[in-house]
Amino acid sequence: MVIYMKVLIADEVDQECPSRLRAAGFDVKEWYGISPDDLKKVIADYEILIVRSRTKVTKEIIDLGNKLKMIARVGVGLDTIDVKAAESRGIKVINTPQMSTVAVAELTISLMLNLIRGTYLAIDSMKKGLWAKKNFYGNELYGKTLGVVGFGRIGKAVAERVRAFGMKILVYDIFVEDNALMRLGASRASSLEDLLSQSDIVTLHVTLTPETKHLINARTLSLMRKGSYLINTSRGEVVNTRDLLDALKSGHLAGAALDVYENEPPKETWEKELISLPNVIATPHIGAQTHEAQVSGAIAVAENIINAFKPL
Ligand code: NAD
Repeated sequence: MVIYMKVLIADEVDQECPSRLRAAGFDVKEWYGISPDDLKKVIADYEILIVRSRTKVTKEIIDLGNKLKMIARVGVGLDTIDVKAAESRGIKVINTPQMSTVAVAELTISLMLNLIRGTYLAIDSMKKGLWAKKNFYGNELYGKTLGVVGFGRIGKAVAERVRAFGMKILVYDIFVEDNALMRLGASRASSLEDLLSQSDIVTLHVTLTPETKHLINARTLSLMRKGSYLINTSRGEVVNTRDLLDALKSGHLAGAALDVYENEPPKETWEKELISLPNVIATPHIGAQTHEAQVSGAIAVAENIINAFKPL
């Protein structure tokens, strides 16, 4: 078999990726956990570099990789790759933004149910050997309004799934297609403020940009309904953590569920205080962590590379 290009996989990915590349004739080296120094020493031998979030692909590494033609990220964000430096050298940078859509949507729904029903507290009490049945009166999703802020891949996937709960869905995004609204039985909010004032639960699915940093702050939190809930599985910086803490402590919000934080792991006292509140559910940025998402990302990267480089 003809050996095509040399591929270095620097972070652990599902075996679907190396095995598909090898079957297509690529010369694949799996060096999971390679150190920055070793990467600098060997990068000049490779045409393709595959990474997850651990490996930082700096300008220095890109400049040393004089044969590099593609850098592929199994995952969503490209913040760990110096995309400008790569593109200025004509190196293609790809990622797999669609791989975690279902995983994040399902986590969001799991957090939402847990939060408003208080299931996490009931489970915890059973683990402590208690039978505190009378303490656990929660709320139902049926008939409530869900405000979806950011109606991209994940926002739509959440909306699609909550239709089955009989919720009213209100959407805010800078760009909303009418056919997606119709297909999902959702309504467009005229503004973020409009959405916040009408929703019983607000779920955040915007990308992090200078405009969305601290989109949820003291002012916007004050516009949310008293007794409403906030869910954030997007990016930590979309929410001003200190303001959220105040809104929860004052009782204005009934609860919050978070998968993402301004600092990961959280380190400031106000972040830790927030997480320790009884009406806050926190998960350690596990949105994309399903086996299915990892397999789908690994396959997407392998297929992209094969399509781009395998000779006809
Ligand atoms: P996407 O690009 O498909 O959707 C993002 C949406 O945000 C777009 O429709 C865009 O128009 C909208 N948006 C951008 N700026 C806006 C603004 N100022 N006001 C209103 N809307 C705005 O992205 P996605 O794949 O749906 O991901 C959504 C979020 O989930 C991102 O922040 C992503 O980083 C995050 N995410 C988290 C995890 C996790 O592990 N928790 C995993 C994957 C993605």
